[in-house]
Amino acid sequence: MSASEWYAHKAVADGLFWIQERFYESGNRANIWLLRGSHQDVVIDAGLGLRSLPEYLSAAGLLGDTSGRGRNPLLAVATHVHFDHSGGLHQFAQVGVHKAEVDALSSGDNYETVTWLSDAEVVRAPAPGWRASGYRVKAVQPTHILQEGDVINLGDKQLTVLHMPGHSRGSICLHDKENKMLFSGDTVYDGSMIDWLPYSKISDYVSSCERLVQLVDDGQVEQVLPGHFNTFGPKRLHQLASGYISKAGACHRFSTCAVKSIASLALRVSNSRGAC
Ligand SMILES: [Zn+2]
Ligand SMILES: [Zn+2]
Repeated sequence: MSASEWYAHKAVADGLFWIQERFYESGNRANIWLLRGSHQDVVIDAGLGLRSLPEYLSAAGLLGDTSGRGRNPLLAVATHVHFDHSGGLHQFAQVGVHKAEVDALSSGDNYETVTWLSDAEVVRAPAPGWRASGYRVKAVQPTHILQEGDVINLGDKQLTVLHMPGHSRGSICLHDKENKMLFSGDTVYDGSMIDWLPYSKISDYVSSCERLVQLVDDGQVEQVLPGHFNTFGPKRLHQLASGYISKAGACHRFSTCAVKSIASLALRVSNSRGAC
């Protein structure tokens, strides 16, 4: 099977492509974004890493030379280190992640990456005899350690790093201020927000949602490119973020605490069992 059959893509805007893993059918399948700039291209999130994403990008002509200057440098940035976003990072020479999750990525900590994959979700095995139980996020030493306010310069576009902890401790959103685009990772997507994972924190999540509401109120977002599901606009962003803030009361905190304990235990068991 050629590289072109493992992924699919579509153009969303000028220089922006949405890429999907065709071998993975699950609610956990993350969106992969490729944003091309005049001097640098950036891949935002990298999927599971079961098949070569750089090979696909090349084969699909998405990294081709448009300016006569040759191919741009390519940087892969993870919105956070959960396995559905970070598993493919090891395929890239340049990798960026928030400083709070550098240790998890560089040590290949599959508890913090919440690695959770079943055979049924992987509809095409990457190799004969491959089993999901042996899947791990590979350790990667990031070349770019990101923090709040950093600017990733693509040449004609700039992405500002917004540290948005809550879903995970090193979650970031990437904001293209000029074009009013927000790559939101799992901090917000059009579905229920997950705050019960090992390094989730409700109080941080509320603060991050308050920042999102403020961005909308200030007219700084016109399009959201999320970590899962479809893109949406500022009205929906406002609804989702303010909806989370209003539901994050004591009752929610209590039930989340119970779910979190169960999820943490299940992840510990799962990732110790297959660790060899
Ligand atoms: Zn995700
Ligand atoms: Zn996540």
